[in-house]
Amino acid sequence: MSTKQNLESLLTTPAPHFSAGEAEQIAAEFFGLSGTATALDSERDLNFHLVTEDGDQYVIKIANSSEDPAIIDMQLKALEHIAHVAPDLPVPKVVLSNEGKLVEEAKAADGRTHPVRVVSYLPGIYPEEEFFSEDFYRQMGNFLARTAKALQGFFHPIANYELLWDLKHASNLRKYLGYVEDPKHYKLAEKFLDRFEKHVLPLIPKLRAQIVHNDLVPNNLLVGKEDHGKIVGIIDFGDLTHTLIIIDLAATIADTISVDSDAVEVAAQITAGYHEINPLEEAELRVLYDLVGTRLVMLNLIAIWRVTLHPDNYDYIMSGVGPTWVILEQWLELDPEQVTRRLLRTCGFWEQKVIEKASRESYQSLLDRREQLLGPLAYLFYDQPLHIVRGEGVWLYDRDNIRYLDVYNNVPQVGHCHPHVVNRIAEQAGLLNTSTRYLHEHILELAERITAKLPEKLSICSFVCTGSEANELAWIMAKLVSGNTGALITHHSYHGSTDAIGQFSPESLPAGKVPPHVRTLDPPTSNSNWPKPDAGIRDAIRAMEVDGHQPAMCLLDTSFVSDGIFTAPKGYLKALFAATRAAGGLCVADEVQGGFGRFGGNFWGFEYDEVIPDIVTMGKPMGNGHPIAAVVTTAEIAEALARDRGYFNTFGGNPVSCAAGLAVLDVIEKEGLQENALRVGAYLKKGFEELREDYPVLGGIHGAGLLLGVDIITAEGKPDGDRADQIMNHLRVNRVLIGVTGPDENVLKIRPPLVFEEAHADILLAALKGALEETQR
Ligand code: PMP
Repeated sequence: MSTKQNLESLLTTPAPHFSAGEAEQIAAEFFGLSGTATALDSERDLNFHLVTEDGDQYVIKIANSSEDPAIIDMQLKALEHIAHVAPDLPVPKVVLSNEGKLVEEAKAADGRTHPVRVVSYLPGIYPEEEFFSEDFYRQMGNFLARTAKALQGFFHPIANYELLWDLKHASNLRKYLGYVEDPKHYKLAEKFLDRFEKHVLPLIPKLRAQIVHNDLVPNNLLVGKEDHGKIVGIIDFGDLTHTLIIIDLAATIADTISVDSDAVEVAAQITAGYHEINPLEEAELRVLYDLVGTRLVMLNLIAIWRVTLHPDNYDYIMSGVGPTWVILEQWLELDPEQVTRRLLRTCGFWEQKVIEKASRESYQSLLDRREQLLGPLAYLFYDQPLHIVRGEGVWLYDRDNIRYLDVYNNVPQVGHCHPHVVNRIAEQAGLLNTSTRYLHEHILELAERITAKLPEKLSICSFVCTGSEANELAWIMAKLVSGNTGALITHHSYHGSTDAIGQFSPESLPAGKVPPHVRTLDPPTSNSNWPKPDAGIRDAIRAMEVDGHQPAMCLLDTSFVSDGIFTAPKGYLKALFAATRAAGGLCVADEVQGGFGRFGGNFWGFEYDEVIPDIVTMGKPMGNGHPIAAVVTTAEIAEALARDRGYFNTFGGNPVSCAAGLAVLDVIEKEGLQENALRVGAYLKKGFEELREDYPVLGGIHGAGLLLGVDIITAEGKPDGDRADQIMNHLRVNRVLIGVTGPDENVLKIRPPLVFEEAHADILLAALKGALEETQR
């Protein structure tokens, strides 16, 4: 059966008139409840709060005379159904009359009769915007999904009636467009109605439908009187109808977004909360953007039309509607595809697609094809190489959607695929990408923000694409300014892969192949007992001179990752810098590994000592995976190079790369990631130290923040590279990714994205304990 209720009569018929005294009489006569009644706010009905002598509380609902009794019957039966199938869901309980009926009839003074029902009164208060938080939005999604799930098995013959507030019938709203006076608003409303008809209407028959609440908005929720962040009640089942499941969600989202909220974030959180209880389908998420826009149009059009009918009730009707036009404008400004992508991603659909696509080819075929196409130069990590298809935060997911804790990768400094970085890159890629031969703001802002973090005299930035290029440029500058031809580096360092810089990377050179213009120095081995570098550097410079070279620069990875991971002990860099300068060379801090807050205590590695480099190079984490690197130096050095030959880099500093660089700095600052590195790093270090008490195979623990090295040693205290390799591979099998480093490859390299938290540290420590147990010999 499908009854078409006169859509407008309900909203046009005036609300019933009963005094509180009359309501008390009705409650006593029909429901055997005696108590004190006070009127509650209501749009089209008349509601009273009744408190009995025993302190029990009820709501007496006297309906509009034109309300279809069958609809009231459906609402009450829905409440009974929920009480039966989901007794934990906090909805009002139905109170039967003395005669065991759901509804009674009361006659008003004007002679009209009105249906009356009583439900229990739920304690709590209405949520205010200041209570809203990420958690609150999630809860809203959860409660909506729980309600929909509870109603899944419910039906009522009237459920198919044509409710004005059912978005499925949004085309009917066109007839109210004439009430919109502001031409801008008219256009906005028309635009979304057009979109609805084009993108949603044809799909309606394909989308899931059932009886839903259809109005679970903040005003129909109650939160705790003490705990304002906790939802404790769902009220007002007045818009209950049979419609699309996704319309139910669209209504909640549209009515929750405010002018000042981040609309996409609110939508994503509510959707995530919904999806985790009652999984949505991809096709449903694809119409959500348009449904939210259409619901906002609906709110405005119905309100404007009703104001013309009841000008006396203007304030009540228009409360909260005013800003809805602004919200609608803001919603229109969003890119529907981007919003949809975010919603799909929130529910894991985007990733699923990628995985499906990536998984078509077998693991073995990928390995074979790789060997054929990339040859022996492209070696892979781990005994059993990984096929990773997506990343998020500190997690990497393989083709089977198995996740791995990433404790190795420092390129995704602010976490894999951080949405802010992804969005800024995507936005800029859609706008402009050129070389730096044109004026652009991004490169200037990035240069400003980087130099602001460096000593004042380091004021000129050159942007390049890789750490190798950055060091190559530093080398060009150093040779030019010093007039010298030699370089000083640490024994096992790595600085890059170009022809010149490869010579300064003994880690990847065959043993003994460091050329005569390059001399190596002892790295600091620990903070308490490090070899004083004075004698070492004097000898190195002297040896270089014998071969006809003077130092043009000392180039130091200020985190000494390839030497085993150390912070510079006080006095170490100072001594090297002084000796280099005395011999006419420049001092270059390679911050490719140690920069951008990883050590926690300082933003740059060189800051652990009292030195000011002549040149600072940086790269890797700078773009969270996007290739961007930089050289920062003094005005004099930059001028010298400009006079001599200049420098140009086609891709360096392009607007997209700079957008990535800016986004990374935004996140580091906004999310307090340097502080996080300090706190979690200290926690992790303590965890390693505690573990060492039981496992003496763990030796020195060095570094700081989220750049830590843990030595693996034999019973005699000698470096044990084999055991370190076993541990690393054991961890990989147990879904934790680390690396090894150091001249003997016996140092566990702990270098996760900076969004690593204590809970992740616990996972790593537990997995390491397992690896130490099982790799015992
Ligand atoms: N310097 C250091 C300290 C590095 O660790 C690396 C890369 N591992 C580089 C420079 C070279 O950077 P890229 O690979 O981006 O050329």
